[in-house]
Amino acid sequence: MYTTERYETTISVKKYLEKYVDVETFLECCKACPNYEKIWSCPSYDFDVLEYWKKYQYLDLTAVKIIFDEEYAGKEFSKEEMNRITEASLWKVKHDLSQELLVKEEENPGSISLSAGSCGLCKDGCPRTKGEPCHFPHKMRYSIESLGGNVGLTISKLMGIELEWMEEGKLPHYFVLVSGLLR
Ligand code: SF4
Repeated sequence: MYTTERYETTISVKKYLEKYVDVETFLECCKACPNYEKIWSCPSYDFDVLEYWKKYQYLDLTAVKIIFDEEYAGKEFSKEEMNRITEASLWKVKHDLSQELLVKEEENPGSISLSAGSCGLCKDGCPRTKGEPCHFPHKMRYSIESLGGNVGLTISKLMGIELEWMEEGKLPHYFVLVSGLLR
């Protein structure tokens, strides 16, 4: 169904903050997202986002490009088929990447990983809307974009990957997952 390509690079947090992070702008954009204040891994936060970045010196970035085979890429699928395909590709790779990053955290004491996208650990949905605290705070990780990072710019400038615009009802030629390790 798909193959993957992996891209890795390291940048200092100081440089990343200068060139790729704009907390005010991106967290404002988050307000338009359906996940805003619905998932604990997404804004708004009760902590200072810039200070969160500044606790670390380096950011190890890992991007995985999920490239669909010809019979899938750019083709139209029903909603159910699309869910099945993304479950078997995007969500599977995201899960594997998260597990890999948790191992890296253990190998780098004091580090914390940044998830590729928002948290989906609770299968029945995040209980934030019910006013309940995070069920797995030891496993939940913020994403680069939820901390004001410009993911599009990050992968194009630092990794040489262009983002593809998605067309309604059509599977893209590829997905890109971007995660990180702050250490
Ligand atoms: S672990 Fe569960 S409760 Fe915590 S942010 Fe993720 S979905 Fe929400």
